[in-house]
Amino acid sequence: MLQNLLKKFRKKPHASYPEPAIMNAYARLPVSFVRGEGAKLWDADGREYLDALGGIAVTFLGHCHPKISETISLQANKILHTSNLFHIQEQADLGEAFCRISEMEKVFFGNSGAEANEAAIKIARLQANAKGIKAPTIITAQHSFHGRTMATLSATGNAAIQNGFAPLLSDFVHVAYNDIDAIKQHSENTNVVAVMIEPIQGEGGVIVPSQGYLEAVRALCDENGWLMIVDEIQAGMGRTGKWFAYQHEGILPDIMTSAKALGNGIPIGACAARGVAAELISPGTHGTTFGGNPFASKIASTIIEIIEQDKLLERAEQLGSMIKKQVRQHLGSSRKVVDIRGKGLMIGIELDQAYPDLAMIFLNAGLVVNVTGGGKVIRLLPSVVLSDTQAKTIASIIHDVVSEL
Ligand SMILES: *Cc1c(COP(=O)(O)O)cnc(C)c1O
Repeated sequence: MLQNLLKKFRKKPHASYPEPAIMNAYARLPVSFVRGEGAKLWDADGREYLDALGGIAVTFLGHCHPKISETISLQANKILHTSNLFHIQEQADLGEAFCRISEMEKVFFGNSGAEANEAAIKIARLQANAKGIKAPTIITAQHSFHGRTMATLSATGNAAIQNGFAPLLSDFVHVAYNDIDAIKQHSENTNVVAVMIEPIQGEGGVIVPSQGYLEAVRALCDENGWLMIVDEIQAGMGRTGKWFAYQHEGILPDIMTSAKALGNGIPIGACAARGVAAELISPGTHGTTFGGNPFASKIASTIIEIIEQDKLLERAEQLGSMIKKQVRQHLGSSRKVVDIRGKGLMIGIELDQAYPDLAMIFLNAGLVVNVTGGGKVIRLLPSVVLSDTQAKTIASIIHDVVSEL
């Protein structure tokens, strides 16, 4: 069956791309995209693909968005980098826009998601220090993903990401996700300083917690004097139909982190906070060479403007519903499909088992997706510039591929 499908969709064999000088961090698929426009990608052989992955939740505004390209060009001809030793107007402007959309008070800009989470963890340590807690503990979730630096991989609830890197930071205890009692059990632990949580688990398999879970975590944090840290690196920046997924529950964390779609491909990350957590960083306690430079800041500001002007939060919600509805119509009764879930343009289609080479089969069918959650969940993180027709094409390719598995 699989062989037939590979044959059916294969136009000619994919090339292999030797890269002898690159460290072996990724088991890459044998394709190299060389050009993009909106939700379309072209490989080195000129083959066209529909991009339902968006560089893993990064290119939310699609490839080569004309307004972003224009800003890149204008800013590149003005100034790229100065230093955080000096005032950066572009960073100050982005800070205000970012705090407005996130409902936070202050923000620190770095270059990636992991760095944003590092800043959040350092703020939690400063808070622990201020409270006289000697062995600070942060509660995080099983199957979570928070990054690949030593602190963030220690925070991550996935042994595969931690193996080989002991000793880990001892700050973290991992509890079941979407289980408020699992967190409540730590109420007596005076070392706990924060809870760090994804509003929807992305790498873990697009796990959407029950309505009210984040609200309950918020209440528990208030009760115990813990900081609530929400990792919006994958779900945030409009993808779920709100700027940030915690806004679906009308709550505010003390600290939130963002990256990925914040730069649409230009590296930038943000750690924002309110209340005490917004005041703990002081000169000498944290820093970055590149973070918040004029170039990245200007582009991120432009991205916020585009999402607002083009009313793309509503569009994300609408497109997400459309894709889910179509997939349900095509495959709702298939015994191979266990669940179709997600919020806005963060969608998971859980299959009954792991099918080998699934991402490659989709590539051969002209659709870029990712498979996560133990190889069973087709993850869609497409761009909000999809047309209705492209959204329907995504659903119909998924139908074609899954029905042939
Ligand atoms: C991608 C991701 C990170 C890490 O971001 P990087 O930019 O790769 O360091 C952290 N948390 C979540 C939820 C993510 O999806």
